[in-house]
Amino acid sequence: MSIQHQLERAERLCEQRGVRFTPTRRHVFTLMAEHKGAVSAYDLLDRLRELEPNAKPPTVYRALDFLLSQGFVHKVESLNAFLFCDHFAEHHPMQLLICNHCGLVIELHDEAINQAFNLQAERHGFGITSQSIEAHGQCRQCRAEKNTGD
Ligand SMILES: [Zn+2]
Ligand SMILES: [Zn+2]
Repeated sequence: MSIQHQLERAERLCEQRGVRFTPTRRHVFTLMAEHKGAVSAYDLLDRLRELEPNAKPPTVYRALDFLLSQGFVHKVESLNAFLFCDHFAEHHPMQLLICNHCGLVIELHDEAINQAFNLQAERHGFGITSQSIEAHGQCRQCRAEKNTGD
């Protein structure tokens, strides 16, 4: 799906939810959508400054808080970074595979993993308020490059 389509879809959702999709929020949304993989708030700030020269760290953090609250982006806890979500229209379970070599992040949506995880929490009488399931390693392409002796 093109970034333009994603933007239009996000606009419609914001309208339905009665929340404001301000120009800065749009800018950060677009920058996130263009970026492959996870991006830190400071890298985002550098990019945002090309569009909004006066942008400060709180500008980015406030916009990211909004995008997180709307489910448009995810936080990658282990990298302290953010990831654009292609599936933001629906609520979904999430697990992440993160390549240490090239930075690729694969977003999985396996309901069974979440159910098993929640079941274990319940068995311990534990009430989950937030969770992240993240694994680090090497992606298919990086592993293939390694095996050819590169
Ligand atoms: Zn997602
Ligand atoms: Zn990789």
